[in-house]
Amino acid sequence: MALHKVTASETERQRDFCRKVRELDTSYGLNSPRGSSYFIMTFGCQQNENDSERMSGLLQEMGYFEASGYEDADLIFLNTCSVRENADDRLFGHLGMMKNLKRDKPQLLVGICGCMMTQDVHVDKIKKSYPFVDMLFGPQDIYRLPEILWHRLTDSRRVYEIGSDDTLAEDIPIQRARKHRALVSIMFGCNNFCTYCIVPYTRGRERSREFDQVIRELKQLAIEGYKEVMLLGQNVNSYGQDLRKTRPDHPDFADLMEAAAQIPELRRIRFMTSHPKDISDKLIDVIGRYTNIEPHLHLPIQSGSNSILQKMNRHYTREQYLEIIRKAREARPGITFSTDLIVGFPGETEQDFEDTLDLMRQVRFSSAFTFIYSKRTGTPAAELDDQIDAAVIKERFKRLLDLQNEHSLASNLEIEGQLVEVLLEGRSDGDPEILSGRTADSRLVNLRVHDLSMIPERLLGDDGLLDGSRLEGSMAQVRITKAKTFSLEGELEQLET
Ligand code: SF4
Repeated sequence: MALHKVTASETERQRDFCRKVRELDTSYGLNSPRGSSYFIMTFGCQQNENDSERMSGLLQEMGYFEASGYEDADLIFLNTCSVRENADDRLFGHLGMMKNLKRDKPQLLVGICGCMMTQDVHVDKIKKSYPFVDMLFGPQDIYRLPEILWHRLTDSRRVYEIGSDDTLAEDIPIQRARKHRALVSIMFGCNNFCTYCIVPYTRGRERSREFDQVIRELKQLAIEGYKEVMLLGQNVNSYGQDLRKTRPDHPDFADLMEAAAQIPELRRIRFMTSHPKDISDKLIDVIGRYTNIEPHLHLPIQSGSNSILQKMNRHYTREQYLEIIRKAREARPGITFSTDLIVGFPGETEQDFEDTLDLMRQVRFSSAFTFIYSKRTGTPAAELDDQIDAAVIKERFKRLLDLQNEHSLASNLEIEGQLVEVLLEGRSDGDPEILSGRTADSRLVNLRVHDLSMIPERLLGDDGLLDGSRLEGSMAQVRITKAKTFSLEGELEQLET
């Protein structure tokens, strides 16, 4: 795919379409005195969430407002993910529901976007079996949403737009979903071709945003009051590699992190995802020198067996991985680690699996995303003939989970009784009297507030009770009272106001 940098004149053209849709929409089938509404259902990773935030920004610029649920919306987008098989299943389940909605509300428009829309197999299926779908476009076409929507609103025919370029678009308006954390994509795509992964085929080759643009966005977020940012990319450690081909002194990821860490209002800088093969000593040094860079590293290992790592095309060994862990611990004492683990990759022997357990025992991850290998059509691993028996995978997966749960609990027990800084994310889903938030190293904390007078009146709800949305983004000192496997319990000691 060719790289396509969206020019200022193309961006201006899309702004014109925004204006046109806004004018058009006043006469379009409205069902609310506020105008037409949209709802975006997002599947998959944080990069998809960030894409949805940009779509939201564009839709609001076009005069739409966000509906509280898809049932109330005039326009629904499903932002798809193709990384896991069940994400596909979920999309097709939701499409059945959309069909019924459209029958009851013929003016409803349905759009499908995201990674799945870059795969012919899914696009063809939707065109053939779900003809009521109004718009299809991939992640690279998001900047063209105003144009796509304008065509759909003014033509009676369906609009299917699937771009084939690797686009890089700046200056798209954004409507952020969270007040406590801003997602900032620093690069798109991936060059790595891990043999189990579909991402390089759906999101294209790596392309980095300009350093100055990213820093400008981070400074603006600091002005807006964000205390936490998360820098996103499929492999953030290779940030700038593409730009250095023509500008050898373009900053790398360590430079970017250092510049971000020098924005004092940003109290927590997170990043995701790091590929072990590209993590540099320079980056580890920066992590060691700035306390506002999170004391946590999410570093996917996938397998502890060198032979499986080779089959996965990961380009590092377990020994190299353990060396990164050692250096990071030396540079930043107390740093915690999380990882991704795949069980049942084709050809995985009992010894390979034991190697994974052994590596877990050496690192003692504070948490892990654990996956059963799922075959993704179009990837080299799907063609391997030594696929592992489902019963064997199930038994291994249980052993792996048991070990990880033991490590997660032990890691949480280490901070029982301590006073920790928590960035509040809102009210806990399960109990309105409990707030939730995260520690600097990303552990989930559910906390009680025994004395409401600790919270200034303006941050309480109109009923004088806890209001998650008003408290979201506040920093709190919390005493950890109980460690559990997946979370911590605590009590508010002080709220920073
Ligand atoms: S680094 Fe590997 S696993 Fe991650 S997105 Fe790229 S190909 Fe997929």
